[in-house]
Amino acid sequence: MPASPRFISVAVPTPLRSTFQYRLEGGQSVRPGSRVLVPFGHRKLAGVVTGIEEEPNVDNKKIRQVLDVFDDSASLTDPILKLCQWAAGYYDHPIGDVIANALPTLIRKGGNPRDPLNKLHITSAGANADPTVLRRAPAQRQLLANLIDEPLTRGEIKLRRISSRTVKSLIDKDWAEWQQERTEPDQPFELGSVHIPDIEITGEQADAIAAIDDTTPYLLQGITGSGKTEVYLRLMEPLLKAGSQILVLVPEIGLTPQTVARFRDRFDVPLTLLHSSLSDRERALGWMQAKEGSVGIILGTRSAVFTPLLNPGAIIVDEEHDTSYKQQDGFRYSARDLAVLRGQFEQMPVVLGSATPSLESLHNVETGKYRHLQLRKRPPGTVSESYELVDTRHLERREGFTRALRNRIKDQLAIGDQVLVFLNRRGFAPVMMCSDCNWIAHCRRCDAKLTYHLNLNSLVCHHCGSSNHNIISCQACGSNHVAAIGLGTQRIEQTLKEMFPNYPVLRIDRDSTRRQGAMEDFVEQVGSGEPAILVGTQLLSKGHHFPNVTLVALLDIDAGFYSSDFRALEKLGQLILQVGGRAGRAEKPGTVVIQSDFATHPLLQTLITNGYAEFSELLLKERQDLELPPYTFNALIRAEAADSSLAREFLESISDGRKSSPSVDLLGPIPALMEKKAGRFRQILILTSNSRPQLHRELHERVTLAESLPISKKVRWAVDVDPVDFF
Ligand code: ADP
Ligand code: ZN
Ligand code: ZN
Repeated sequence: MPASPRFISVAVPTPLRSTFQYRLEGGQSVRPGSRVLVPFGHRKLAGVVTGIEEEPNVDNKKIRQVLDVFDDSASLTDPILKLCQWAAGYYDHPIGDVIANALPTLIRKGGNPRDPLNKLHITSAGANADPTVLRRAPAQRQLLANLIDEPLTRGEIKLRRISSRTVKSLIDKDWAEWQQERTEPDQPFELGSVHIPDIEITGEQADAIAAIDDTTPYLLQGITGSGKTEVYLRLMEPLLKAGSQILVLVPEIGLTPQTVARFRDRFDVPLTLLHSSLSDRERALGWMQAKEGSVGIILGTRSAVFTPLLNPGAIIVDEEHDTSYKQQDGFRYSARDLAVLRGQFEQMPVVLGSATPSLESLHNVETGKYRHLQLRKRPPGTVSESYELVDTRHLERREGFTRALRNRIKDQLAIGDQVLVFLNRRGFAPVMMCSDCNWIAHCRRCDAKLTYHLNLNSLVCHHCGSSNHNIISCQACGSNHVAAIGLGTQRIEQTLKEMFPNYPVLRIDRDSTRRQGAMEDFVEQVGSGEPAILVGTQLLSKGHHFPNVTLVALLDIDAGFYSSDFRALEKLGQLILQVGGRAGRAEKPGTVVIQSDFATHPLLQTLITNGYAEFSELLLKERQDLELPPYTFNALIRAEAADSSLAREFLESISDGRKSSPSVDLLGPIPALMEKKAGRFRQILILTSNSRPQLHRELHERVTLAESLPISKKVRWAVDVDPVDFF
């Protein structure tokens, strides 16, 4: 039973790093995690109770009264509140904003998805009505047809662009009526039948399944197709049978129908999907079902790590190396790292799976923090793809393709197979240049070149989204000899259509998949197995398998070698294997051709001849020698302002002065890798240490100092602990 204390601390969604004390009225009862409505300045805000106190912290009279206490059934659970509090400390981020990230919007604002919902229902008169009467009222006729299928909420009606007049007309005819619908809490889930495929588990799979028996984190490493998902599924079965819930995290664009089907097909059990295109209410309902224990499997992307579980069973983080697990703005948390911590808090195993684990996780294996489980071989009856490096330094290329590659594509299509051409650059061409004066089109608001997009016939900035329709004349000399230089997926698509006019060419990148369901359509078309050419970016490297693709060509991977980001080669290696791994599952062997000017680079050679294990070992050695993460720890303070010098001044004023921890190095302020973005100038201050506690202490001191400085109000600044880049 919630207690009735007199004072409570409340986290409210503000940029302030503290909680605020309020007074409770007699009769109001709360617990940590309860949602309350409180006065805040001139506003009323919904917040979450973080603590309960007997005594006031400040002058008793100044403490304001709690206005309302929301329904306890949607309170934050203890483990999630604890996780949020821990994260607020670790990431040095305001607790109110951490909680705002952790909760579905509807819950955060005090709502409850179980509240009765008004829906427009068809009446029996409506069901028996003769729709031809509505011959002249197509909108009403359409609505009537919709209502025969299912009742609709106000939101759904709006979404379908049905006017309120249309609704009213049907109600006036007594053909439709509003009804309150209550969704009662569901029963605790039960595992129904389990559909186990007719395969024999390999020795390595059996060892991995048997090993996962306590609450240590496990790193499950195995090339694509080696049977990691099969290990997850076998691990889940006894847990589900015992009534425990499984949280499965997948990368942002990895939540594909294929992935979902793997889980649905295996287990006859309620499953909740948490993805970005849910409505507020759907998201809140999924959260509620997990909290009530009525779903067995929760499958979601980054923020799903905060989903409460009534009976925690295990957390699986698939493709743990994927950088989408790290939120890149606001509260910059790593869902993978929080998953590991959550496993300890709630005493459940956490399995991080990947064909290409991050160096951080491999390092955690070295230091004994994680236990390493490996699937070195693919199961019998399946084959691995083979890799070939093509040194392009002295080879002539036509629109990116060497003659040899063109011929191979032709042969592969001729035998009825599919081909995947990978280029990690969308648009038509990355550079627009004047051939008279060498002027290059840059974004006015960013330190970036503009990319030419054929379909829009304009120049687009991939960093701030602004576009420029003047593509015909040079802005330096006025000449109209401007040309699109370099390769983008749209150009490759056009080239391939010209080279192979008899085959469909499907371009799959963020531009072509913007429409809801577009990706599904592509996957279906590719799934038909007819010969075709797929052109795509790294969107293709996640979650999808294309069994009829037997040739993968990576056209230009060289940007990774020029990058000043120390993680560039790690990411490149992961990308190559992830893209390559899409090809030729099951019976058909696949070949992966990599064109590069760096074909003789020892790291690239190691990757394709000896595999990721040796590649990552070399990279780890290099990181250790250079004292880079994961051997040292980083935190950034990022600042940006429209004024070109303000961000630097701000960071200077917090980096000056005596350091409190001798083992922490302060570097900067230095310009971010892209100094100007969306019209704002960005600087970073880098803190480095080989002691985590010292790093965090120093960081916290700097942050506290920053908050006390008036200049901090004039810049936008944020903390980034364990940054994944310096952009
Ligand atoms: P991963 O998750 O590592 O990419 P999957 O678990 O998806 O690998 O396995 C790849 C394919 O091999 C799937 O079709 C799966 O059903 C099959 N498979 C998995 N384990 C075995 C096994 N032991 N014997 C035969 N086929 C297997
Ligand atoms: Zn821009
Ligand atoms: Zn010019």
